[in-house]
Amino acid sequence: MSYLVFARKWRPQTFTDVIAQEHVTMTLRNAITSERIGHAYLFTGPRGVGKTTTARILAKALNCAEGPTPDPCMECEACRRIAAGGHLDVLEIDGASNRGIDEIRDLREKARYAAAEGGYKIYIIDEVHMLTREAFNALLKILEEPPERVIFIFATTEPRKVPATILSRCQRFDFRRIPSAVMGGYIKEEALKEGISITPDALSLVCRASGGSMRDALSIMDQLVSFSGGEITGETVSGLLGLVEADLLADISSAVFHSRGNDALELIEEALGRGYSIEELIDALNGFLRNALLCATGAEKGIGDLSDGEIELVRSTVAGVSDVHVLNVLRLMSGASEQIRLGASPRISIEGALITAAKLGVAFGFEDLPPVTPRVSVTAVGKEAPPAKTPEDAPRESAKTVEKPAEKPEPVAEPVQDNGDEDTREKENSHIREISGLFDMIPEDN
Ligand SMILES: [Zn+2]
Repeated sequence: MSYLVFARKWRPQTFTDVIAQEHVTMTLRNAITSERIGHAYLFTGPRGVGKTTTARILAKALNCAEGPTPDPCMECEACRRIAAGGHLDVLEIDGASNRGIDEIRDLREKARYAAAEGGYKIYIIDEVHMLTREAFNALLKILEEPPERVIFIFATTEPRKVPATILSRCQRFDFRRIPSAVMGGYIKEEALKEGISITPDALSLVCRASGGSMRDALSIMDQLVSFSGGEITGETVSGLLGLVEADLLADISSAVFHSRGNDALELIEEALGRGYSIEELIDALNGFLRNALLCATGAEKGIGDLSDGEIELVRSTVAGVSDVHVLNVLRLMSGASEQIRLGASPRISIEGALITAAKLGVAFGFEDLPPVTPRVSVTAVGKEAPPAKTPEDAPRESAKTVEKPAEKPEPVAEPVQDNGDEDTREKENSHIREISGLFDMIPEDN
Protein backbone atom coordinates (compact mmCIF):
# COMPACT_ATOMS: atom_id res chain seq x y z
CA MET A 1 0.00 0.00 0.00
CA SER A 2 1.32 3.40 -0.92
CA TYR A 3 0.73 6.01 1.65
CA LEU A 4 1.76 9.52 0.87
CA VAL A 5 1.86 11.70 3.93
CA PHE A 6 -1.85 12.41 4.36
CA ALA A 7 -1.33 15.91 5.67
CA ARG A 8 0.13 16.82 2.28
CA LYS A 9 -1.97 14.58 0.09
CA TRP A 10 -5.28 15.68 1.61
CA ARG A 11 -4.42 19.34 1.82
CA PRO A 12 -7.40 21.35 0.56
CA GLN A 13 -6.67 23.09 -2.74
CA THR A 14 -9.71 25.37 -3.08
CA PHE A 15 -11.87 27.43 -0.72
CA THR A 16 -14.66 24.88 -0.97
CA ASP A 17 -12.30 22.09 0.14
CA VAL A 18 -11.45 23.85 3.42
CA ILE A 19 -13.58 22.27 6.10
CA ALA A 20 -15.26 23.85 9.11
CA GLN A 21 -14.08 27.40 8.27
CA GLU A 22 -16.94 28.52 6.05
CA HIS A 23 -17.20 31.83 7.91
CA VAL A 24 -13.70 32.63 6.63
CA THR A 25 -13.78 31.17 3.14
CA MET A 26 -17.19 32.69 2.33
CA THR A 27 -16.01 36.17 3.29
CA LEU A 28 -12.78 35.81 1.32
CA ARG A 29 -14.65 34.57 -1.74
CA ASN A 30 -17.04 37.51 -1.52
CA ALA A 31 -14.17 39.97 -1.15
CA ILE A 32 -12.51 38.59 -4.28
CA THR A 33 -15.75 38.62 -6.28
CA SER A 34 -16.51 42.19 -5.30
CA GLU A 35 -12.86 43.21 -5.82
CA ARG A 36 -12.43 44.42 -2.28
CA ILE A 37 -9.03 42.96 -1.63
CA GLY A 38 -7.22 44.11 1.49
CA HIS A 39 -3.54 44.83 1.97
CA ALA A 40 -3.12 42.77 5.10
CA TYR A 41 -4.91 39.78 6.52
CA LEU A 42 -4.52 38.19 9.92
CA PHE A 43 -5.49 34.54 10.23
CA THR A 44 -5.73 33.44 13.84
CA GLY A 45 -6.69 30.15 15.44
CA PRO A 46 -5.34 26.90 16.88
CA ARG A 47 -2.68 25.01 15.01
CA GLY A 48 -3.58 22.68 12.21
CA VAL A 49 -7.01 24.10 11.36
CA GLY A 50 -6.24 25.51 7.91
CA LYS A 51 -4.66 28.96 8.31
CA THR A 52 -1.64 28.48 6.04
CA THR A 53 -3.65 26.32 3.67
CA THR A 54 -6.23 29.08 3.30
CA ALA A 55 -3.44 31.65 2.82
CA ARG A 56 -2.10 29.61 -0.11
CA ILE A 57 -5.57 29.26 -1.60
CA LEU A 58 -6.03 33.02 -1.33
CA ALA A 59 -2.68 33.47 -3.09
CA LYS A 60 -3.86 31.18 -5.89
CA ALA A 61 -7.19 32.96 -6.11
CA LEU A 62 -5.37 36.28 -6.58
CA ASN A 63 -2.61 35.15 -8.92
CA CYS A 64 -4.43 32.55 -11.02
CA ALA A 65 -4.21 33.28 -14.77
CA GLU A 66 -7.99 33.63 -14.66
CA GLY A 67 -7.87 35.66 -11.48
CA PRO A 68 -8.51 37.27 -9.23
CA THR A 69 -11.17 34.60 -8.94
CA PRO A 70 -12.77 32.85 -5.97
CA ASP A 71 -12.28 29.59 -7.84
CA PRO A 72 -8.66 29.31 -9.00
CA CYS A 73 -8.31 27.06 -12.03
CA MET A 74 -5.69 24.78 -10.45
CA GLU A 75 -4.16 24.22 -13.87
CA CYS A 76 -2.38 27.39 -14.88
CA GLU A 77 1.31 27.90 -14.20
CA ALA A 78 0.62 30.17 -11.22
CA CYS A 79 -1.84 27.79 -9.54
CA ARG A 80 0.49 24.83 -9.97
CA ARG A 81 3.52 26.73 -8.74
CA ILE A 82 1.76 28.06 -5.66
CA ALA A 83 0.45 24.59 -4.83
CA ALA A 84 4.00 23.26 -5.10
CA GLY A 85 5.42 26.15 -3.07
CA GLY A 86 7.58 27.43 -5.93
CA HIS A 87 5.93 30.67 -7.04
CA LEU A 88 8.31 33.63 -7.23
CA ASP A 89 5.79 36.15 -5.92
CA VAL A 90 4.26 34.08 -3.16
CA LEU A 91 6.73 34.02 -0.31
CA GLU A 92 6.24 32.01 2.82
CA ILE A 93 8.19 33.22 5.79
CA ASP A 94 8.41 31.45 9.11
CA GLY A 95 8.08 34.17 11.74
CA ALA A 96 9.72 31.98 14.35
CA SER A 97 13.04 31.71 12.51
CA ASN A 98 12.99 35.11 10.75
CA ARG A 99 11.97 37.20 13.68
CA GLY A 100 14.58 39.96 13.61
CA ILE A 101 14.55 43.46 12.20
CA ASP A 102 17.07 42.62 9.44
CA GLU A 103 14.78 40.05 7.91
CA ILE A 104 11.84 42.45 7.91
CA ARG A 105 13.97 45.31 6.51
CA ASP A 106 15.09 42.99 3.76
CA LEU A 107 11.47 42.12 3.11
CA ARG A 108 10.62 45.82 2.97
CA GLU A 109 13.31 46.40 0.34
CA LYS A 110 12.08 43.57 -1.84
CA ALA A 111 8.41 44.37 -1.41
CA ARG A 112 9.02 47.58 -3.35
CA TYR A 113 9.69 45.71 -6.57
CA ALA A 114 6.68 44.75 -8.57
CA ALA A 115 5.63 41.13 -8.77
CA ALA A 116 7.91 39.27 -11.16
CA GLU A 117 5.03 37.59 -12.90
CA GLY A 118 2.73 40.57 -13.04
CA GLY A 119 0.18 39.54 -10.44
CA TYR A 120 0.18 40.19 -6.71
CA LYS A 121 3.20 39.88 -4.50
CA ILE A 122 2.05 37.91 -1.48
CA TYR A 123 3.89 37.48 1.78
CA ILE A 124 2.62 34.74 4.05
CA ILE A 125 4.20 35.17 7.47
CA ASP A 126 3.54 32.18 9.70
CA GLU A 127 3.67 32.48 13.50
CA VAL A 128 3.88 36.25 13.10
CA HIS A 129 3.61 36.78 16.87
CA MET A 130 7.20 35.57 17.15
CA LEU A 131 8.61 38.72 15.54
CA THR A 132 10.65 41.03 17.74
CA ARG A 133 9.36 44.46 18.66
CA GLU A 134 11.78 46.13 16.23
CA ALA A 135 10.68 43.77 13.47
CA PHE A 136 7.06 44.64 14.16
CA ASN A 137 7.92 48.34 13.93
CA ALA A 138 9.57 47.80 10.57
CA LEU A 139 6.56 45.80 9.45
CA LEU A 140 4.25 48.56 10.61
CA LYS A 141 6.06 51.03 8.36
CA ILE A 142 5.29 48.84 5.35
CA LEU A 143 1.65 48.45 6.40
CA GLU A 144 1.27 52.20 6.83
CA GLU A 145 2.20 52.75 3.21
CA PRO A 146 1.65 49.45 1.52
CA PRO A 147 3.21 49.18 -1.95
CA GLU A 148 0.82 48.60 -4.84
CA ARG A 149 -0.24 44.99 -5.31
CA VAL A 150 1.56 43.71 -2.24
CA ILE A 151 -0.50 41.64 0.15
CA PHE A 152 0.43 40.35 3.58
CA ILE A 153 -1.17 37.32 5.13
CA PHE A 154 -0.16 36.83 8.73
CA ALA A 155 -0.95 33.59 10.52
CA THR A 156 -0.77 33.16 14.27
CA THR A 157 -1.89 30.93 17.07
CA GLU A 158 -1.44 33.79 19.53
CA PRO A 159 -3.07 36.99 18.27
CA ARG A 160 -2.72 38.57 21.73
CA LYS A 161 1.02 38.80 21.15
CA VAL A 162 0.57 40.83 17.96
CA PRO A 163 0.79 44.59 18.63
CA ALA A 164 -2.45 46.54 18.38
CA THR A 165 -0.91 48.85 15.76
CA ILE A 166 -0.47 45.85 13.46
CA LEU A 167 -3.86 44.33 14.32
CA SER A 168 -5.66 47.53 13.47
CA ARG A 169 -4.25 47.46 9.95
CA CYS A 170 -5.32 43.88 9.22
CA GLN A 171 -8.54 42.24 8.26
CA ARG A 172 -8.82 39.60 10.90
CA PHE A 173 -10.21 36.10 10.42
CA ASP A 174 -10.58 33.74 13.36
CA PHE A 175 -10.25 30.09 12.41
CA ARG A 176 -12.03 27.59 14.63
CA ARG A 177 -11.08 24.27 16.07
CA ILE A 178 -12.55 21.60 13.82
CA PRO A 179 -15.57 19.91 15.42
CA SER A 180 -15.20 16.19 15.97
CA ALA A 181 -18.16 15.23 13.80
CA VAL A 182 -16.92 17.26 10.82
CA MET A 183 -13.37 15.99 11.17
CA GLY A 184 -14.55 12.38 11.55
CA GLY A 185 -16.72 12.63 8.46
CA TYR A 186 -13.87 14.07 6.41
CA ILE A 187 -11.28 11.50 7.50
CA LYS A 188 -13.68 8.63 6.91
CA GLU A 189 -14.45 9.81 3.41
CA GLU A 190 -10.80 10.37 2.48
CA ALA A 191 -9.76 7.05 4.04
CA LEU A 192 -12.39 5.26 2.01
CA LYS A 193 -10.96 6.71 -1.19
CA GLU A 194 -7.59 5.21 -0.21
CA GLY A 195 -9.12 1.83 0.52
CA ILE A 196 -8.53 2.21 4.25
CA SER A 197 -11.24 1.00 6.59
CA ILE A 198 -11.66 2.69 9.95
CA THR A 199 -14.21 1.72 12.59
CA PRO A 200 -16.40 4.41 14.25
CA ASP A 201 -14.72 3.99 17.65
CA ALA A 202 -11.29 4.30 16.02
CA LEU A 203 -12.42 7.43 14.20
CA SER A 204 -13.69 8.91 17.41
CA LEU A 205 -10.39 8.19 19.19
CA VAL A 206 -8.41 9.81 16.36
CA CYS A 207 -10.58 12.93 16.57
CA ARG A 208 -10.22 13.07 20.34
CA ALA A 209 -6.44 12.69 20.16
CA SER A 210 -6.18 15.44 17.54
CA GLY A 211 -7.69 18.06 19.86
CA GLY A 212 -9.46 19.63 16.87
CA SER A 213 -6.31 19.99 14.76
CA MET A 214 -6.69 18.46 11.31
CA ARG A 215 -2.93 18.38 10.87
CA ASP A 216 -2.55 16.29 14.01
CA ALA A 217 -5.42 14.02 13.01
CA LEU A 218 -3.82 13.37 9.62
CA SER A 219 -0.42 12.67 11.07
CA ILE A 220 -2.05 10.20 13.47
CA MET A 221 -3.67 8.59 10.42
CA ASP A 222 -0.22 8.30 8.84
CA GLN A 223 1.08 6.46 11.86
CA LEU A 224 -1.97 4.23 12.04
CA VAL A 225 -1.75 3.18 8.43
CA SER A 226 1.92 2.32 8.65
CA PHE A 227 1.24 0.51 11.92
CA SER A 228 -1.78 -1.51 10.90
CA GLY A 229 -2.08 -1.47 7.11
CA GLY A 230 -5.52 -0.63 5.81
CA GLU A 231 -7.64 -1.83 8.72
CA ILE A 232 -7.91 0.58 11.60
CA THR A 233 -9.85 -0.44 14.70
CA GLY A 234 -10.36 1.13 18.12
CA GLU A 235 -7.85 -1.30 19.52
CA THR A 236 -5.20 -0.26 16.97
CA VAL A 237 -5.67 3.39 17.88
CA SER A 238 -5.71 2.95 21.63
CA GLY A 239 -2.74 0.61 21.34
CA LEU A 240 -0.69 3.01 19.28
CA LEU A 241 -1.58 6.23 21.05
CA GLY A 242 -2.06 4.89 24.55
CA LEU A 243 -5.57 6.36 24.49
CA VAL A 244 -7.82 4.97 27.14
CA GLU A 245 -11.18 3.83 25.86
CA ALA A 246 -14.18 5.84 27.00
CA ASP A 247 -16.02 2.81 28.44
CA LEU A 248 -13.24 2.16 30.92
CA LEU A 249 -13.16 5.82 31.99
CA ALA A 250 -16.92 5.82 32.43
CA ASP A 251 -16.73 2.68 34.59
CA ILE A 252 -14.01 4.13 36.82
CA SER A 253 -15.88 7.44 37.20
CA SER A 254 -19.13 5.68 37.92
CA ALA A 255 -17.47 3.54 40.62
CA VAL A 256 -16.08 6.71 42.23
CA PHE A 257 -19.38 8.62 42.07
CA HIS A 258 -21.25 5.74 43.67
CA SER A 259 -18.77 5.14 46.47
CA ARG A 260 -17.46 1.87 45.07
CA GLY A 261 -13.77 2.48 45.68
CA ASN A 262 -12.88 -1.19 45.39
CA ASP A 263 -14.37 -1.43 41.92
CA ALA A 264 -12.38 1.63 40.87
CA LEU A 265 -9.16 -0.01 42.06
CA GLU A 266 -9.97 -3.24 40.23
CA LEU A 267 -10.57 -1.28 37.04
CA ILE A 268 -7.20 0.42 37.43
CA GLU A 269 -5.57 -2.97 37.89
CA GLU A 270 -7.30 -4.19 34.75
CA ALA A 271 -6.24 -1.12 32.77
CA LEU A 272 -2.60 -1.47 33.81
CA GLY A 273 -2.84 -5.10 32.75
CA ARG A 274 -3.95 -3.91 29.32
CA GLY A 275 -0.74 -1.91 29.05
CA TYR A 276 -1.83 1.63 29.88
CA SER A 277 0.56 3.67 31.98
CA ILE A 278 -0.63 5.47 35.11
CA GLU A 279 0.08 8.84 33.44
CA GLU A 280 -2.10 7.90 30.47
CA LEU A 281 -4.86 6.74 32.79
CA ILE A 282 -4.93 9.83 34.98
CA ASP A 283 -4.80 12.20 31.98
CA ALA A 284 -7.63 10.40 30.26
CA LEU A 285 -9.64 10.17 33.47
CA ASN A 286 -9.28 13.90 34.14
CA GLY A 287 -10.35 14.64 30.58
CA PHE A 288 -13.41 12.46 31.09
CA LEU A 289 -14.22 14.08 34.46
CA ARG A 290 -13.90 17.53 32.93
CA ASN A 291 -16.50 16.58 30.35
CA ALA A 292 -18.56 15.03 33.14
CA LEU A 293 -18.47 18.38 34.96
CA LEU A 294 -19.58 20.21 31.83
CA CYS A 295 -22.48 17.76 31.50
CA ALA A 296 -23.41 18.05 35.16
CA THR A 297 -23.45 21.85 35.06
CA GLY A 298 -25.42 21.92 31.84
CA ALA A 299 -22.52 23.44 29.88
CA GLU A 300 -22.35 20.64 27.35
CA LYS A 301 -21.50 23.04 24.57
CA GLY A 302 -17.99 23.13 26.00
CA ILE A 303 -17.49 19.49 25.10
CA GLY A 304 -15.79 19.83 21.76
CA ASP A 305 -14.09 16.66 20.72
CA LEU A 306 -16.41 13.78 21.54
CA SER A 307 -18.66 11.74 19.30
CA ASP A 308 -22.39 11.69 20.06
CA GLY A 309 -22.02 8.20 21.49
CA GLU A 310 -19.32 9.35 23.88
CA ILE A 311 -21.31 12.39 24.99
CA GLU A 312 -24.21 10.06 25.73
CA LEU A 313 -21.83 7.90 27.78
CA VAL A 314 -20.67 10.92 29.80
CA ARG A 315 -24.27 11.97 30.34
CA SER A 316 -25.31 8.58 31.63
CA THR A 317 -22.27 8.47 33.93
CA VAL A 318 -23.23 11.71 35.68
CA ALA A 319 -26.98 11.08 35.71
CA GLY A 320 -28.14 11.74 39.26
CA VAL A 321 -24.70 12.95 40.38
CA SER A 322 -24.57 16.56 41.60
CA ASP A 323 -22.20 19.00 39.94
CA VAL A 324 -20.55 19.81 43.30
CA HIS A 325 -19.75 16.12 43.59
CA VAL A 326 -18.24 15.93 40.10
CA LEU A 327 -16.29 19.12 40.70
CA ASN A 328 -14.73 17.78 43.88
CA VAL A 329 -13.81 14.45 42.35
CA LEU A 330 -12.17 16.34 39.49
CA ARG A 331 -10.24 18.55 41.92
CA LEU A 332 -8.99 15.52 43.81
CA MET A 333 -7.93 13.68 40.69
CA SER A 334 -6.17 16.79 39.31
CA GLY A 335 -4.22 16.95 42.54
CA ALA A 336 -3.29 13.31 42.10
CA SER A 337 -2.17 14.02 38.57
CA GLU A 338 0.28 16.58 39.97
CA GLN A 339 1.67 14.05 42.43
CA ILE A 340 1.95 11.41 39.73
CA ARG A 341 3.99 13.78 37.63
CA LEU A 342 6.30 14.42 40.55
CA GLY A 343 6.79 10.70 40.38
CA ALA A 344 7.12 9.64 44.00
CA SER A 345 4.76 6.66 43.89
CA PRO A 346 2.31 7.02 41.03
CA ARG A 347 0.35 3.88 41.76
CA ILE A 348 -0.26 4.89 45.38
CA SER A 349 -1.18 8.41 44.28
CA ILE A 350 -3.85 7.29 41.86
CA GLU A 351 -5.25 4.63 44.17
CA GLY A 352 -5.28 6.94 47.18
CA ALA A 353 -7.02 9.65 45.19
CA LEU A 354 -9.62 7.23 43.83
CA ILE A 355 -10.41 5.86 47.29
CA THR A 356 -10.67 9.37 48.73
CA ALA A 357 -12.81 10.47 45.80
CA ALA A 358 -15.08 7.47 46.27
CA LYS A 359 -15.57 8.49 49.92
CA LEU A 360 -16.43 12.11 49.07
CA GLY A 361 -20.09 11.36 48.47
CA VAL A 362 -20.42 9.63 51.82
CA ALA A 363 -18.45 12.26 53.71
CA PHE A 364 -20.29 15.28 52.38
CA GLY A 365 -23.73 13.94 51.53
CA PHE A 366 -23.70 15.65 48.15
CA GLU A 367 -27.19 14.34 47.44
CA ASP A 368 -28.59 16.76 50.01
CA LEU A 369 -26.83 19.71 48.43
CA PRO A 370 -28.35 21.97 45.84
CA PRO A 371 -26.48 22.06 42.54
CA VAL A 372 -23.75 24.69 42.17
CA THR A 373 -25.56 26.22 39.27
CA PRO A 374 -27.70 28.10 39.54
CA ARG A 375 -28.96 27.76 43.14
CA VAL A 376 -25.77 28.03 45.13
CA SER A 377 -24.64 30.96 43.07
CA VAL A 378 -27.96 32.65 43.73
CA THR A 379 -27.49 32.13 47.45
CA ALA A 380 -23.84 33.06 47.35
CA VAL A 381 -23.59 36.10 45.11
CA GLY A 382 -27.17 37.14 44.76
CA LYS A 383 -27.41 36.62 41.04
CA GLU A 384 -27.48 33.92 38.44
CA ALA A 385 -24.11 32.50 37.53
CA PRO A 386 -23.20 33.46 33.97
CA PRO A 387 -23.22 30.52 31.59
CA ALA A 388 -19.81 29.02 30.88
CA LYS A 389 -18.29 30.84 27.90
CA THR A 390 -15.52 28.55 26.85
CA PRO A 391 -14.55 25.03 27.81
CA GLU A 392 -11.60 26.40 29.78
CA ASP A 393 -13.79 28.78 31.74
CA ALA A 394 -16.40 26.29 32.73
CA PRO A 395 -14.75 24.32 35.52
CA ARG A 396 -13.03 27.42 36.84
CA GLU A 397 -16.24 29.38 37.04
CA SER A 398 -17.96 26.59 38.89
CA ALA A 399 -15.06 26.43 41.27
CA LYS A 400 -15.35 30.16 41.92
CA THR A 401 -19.02 30.01 42.75
CA VAL A 402 -18.37 27.31 45.30
CA GLU A 403 -15.38 28.98 46.86
CA LYS A 404 -16.96 32.40 47.15
CA PRO A 405 -18.92 31.93 50.40
CA ALA A 406 -15.80 30.95 52.29
CA GLU A 407 -14.10 34.23 51.40
CA LYS A 408 -17.12 36.49 51.72
CA PRO A 409 -19.65 35.12 54.14
CA GLU A 410 -21.67 38.37 54.36
CA PRO A 411 -23.84 38.22 51.24
CA VAL A 412 -24.89 34.71 52.10
CA ALA A 413 -26.82 35.90 55.12
CA GLU A 414 -29.06 38.14 53.01
CA PRO A 415 -32.27 36.46 51.98
CA VAL A 416 -32.12 36.45 48.20
CA GLN A 417 -33.93 33.18 47.55
CA ASP A 418 -37.59 32.33 47.96
CA ASN A 419 -36.36 29.72 50.39
CA GLY A 420 -36.37 31.64 53.68
CA ASP A 421 -35.52 28.71 55.90
CA GLU A 422 -32.48 29.77 57.93
CA ASP A 423 -31.60 26.22 59.01
CA THR A 424 -31.55 24.88 55.49
CA ARG A 425 -29.39 27.75 54.33
CA GLU A 426 -27.00 27.37 57.24
CA LYS A 427 -26.74 23.67 56.41
CA GLU A 428 -25.96 24.49 52.77
CA ASN A 429 -23.38 27.03 53.81
CA SER A 430 -21.65 24.74 56.21
CA HIS A 431 -21.42 22.14 53.46
CA ILE A 432 -19.95 24.74 51.14
CA ARG A 433 -17.44 25.78 53.77
CA GLU A 434 -16.41 22.17 54.22
CA ILE A 435 -15.92 21.79 50.51
CA SER A 436 -13.99 25.02 50.30
CA GLY A 437 -11.78 23.75 53.09
CA LEU A 438 -11.19 20.65 51.08
CA PHE A 439 -10.06 22.76 48.14
CA ASP A 440 -7.38 24.31 50.31
CA MET A 441 -5.79 20.92 50.78
CA ILE A 442 -5.56 20.33 47.07
CA PRO A 443 -2.95 22.12 44.98
CA GLU A 444 -4.46 24.85 42.83
CA ASP A 445 -4.43 24.22 39.07
CA ASN A 446 -2.29 21.32 37.87
ZN1 LIG B 1 -4.99 29.13 -12.12
